[in-house]
Amino acid sequence: MPMTTPTECVNCHASTLSWKEEKWGYTLYECGSCKLQFWWPFKNPGADAYENNGRFQARNNHPLGKSLYQQQKLFLDAYQKPGSTLLDLGIGTGRFLAAAKERGYQVTGTDFDSKAVAAAKNVLGLDDVYAMDVETFLKTYPQRKFSIITMFEVLEHVDSYSFLPYVRNALETGGYFVISVPNRECWRALLTNEGPPVHLSRWSAASMKLFLDHHGFRVVSIRKIPVRFDLIITRFNEWTKGFLSFSLVKKIESLTVAGEEKATPQGPVAPRKATFTMHIVRALALVKMYVFFFIPASCIYAYLWLTGRQYQTLYVTATPK
Ligand SMILES: [Zn+2]
Repeated sequence: MPMTTPTECVNCHASTLSWKEEKWGYTLYECGSCKLQFWWPFKNPGADAYENNGRFQARNNHPLGKSLYQQQKLFLDAYQKPGSTLLDLGIGTGRFLAAAKERGYQVTGTDFDSKAVAAAKNVLGLDDVYAMDVETFLKTYPQRKFSIITMFEVLEHVDSYSFLPYVRNALETGGYFVISVPNRECWRALLTNEGPPVHLSRWSAASMKLFLDHHGFRVVSIRKIPVRFDLIITRFNEWTKGFLSFSLVKKIESLTVAGEEKATPQGPVAPRKATFTMHIVRALALVKMYVFFFIPASCIYAYLWLTGRQYQTLYVTATPK
């Protein structure tokens, strides 16, 4: 990769940039004006990389395996407006969209990962969903208007902010733009997929406010969501995998699903039923995790609360100015 240097901020085009750190051939800069931190080269690896990435493939093959984000649950509990039109940008396999539909929203969504969108259609039964990147979708359907546009854990992946005027255009008067991103002011080890090229930008409450202001939005609220205790336990489990894990759950699951996956090697499969043995093994693995990690995780949890680094996610509601 040729080493180049950015001459201006990828968001507000200011020329005052400060060097922050290097990682995997990328350099992190912070803009002196809008405070955005971005990795250079500022380039998303593209739909192909996502479609062929093991983690995203696993999600696409088992779209029901992953639960909703905390902030998506907060949204569903807070905005009870049945009948409203909702557009989700970066739907993944559509878990959130399906939940919103159940609550009575008229849902539409888009994602550049065509395999994820196939799963949203085939497994979750969503029909108004498109395999397009955000900007292409908004440009293709400029006449479509929505009362709410959501974008959960997507903004940190994108390598262009030129879609923002189209979001404003697609919102009905008084409509809301709801965004969530990882909070760069939390303890970094809590974040998943942190770093380039998957995550190309890092956000703080202050930089988010400046960003939205720059693109013609007024922030209605910014909520900081603290990390859940069980996530710290899970992280310990990942960090110690090499020497504390017997990989029993994985072994049993691979034995159980091997035949089924052979039957449909390409496309998404219907959710499989966990066998009784799998339930028992999973429960034992959970007990093991808590026995080993409860005390260290409690210490970290207390430390994070004392130092104010427990807020993992920024959950933002904005409206066009
Ligand atoms: Zn800037």
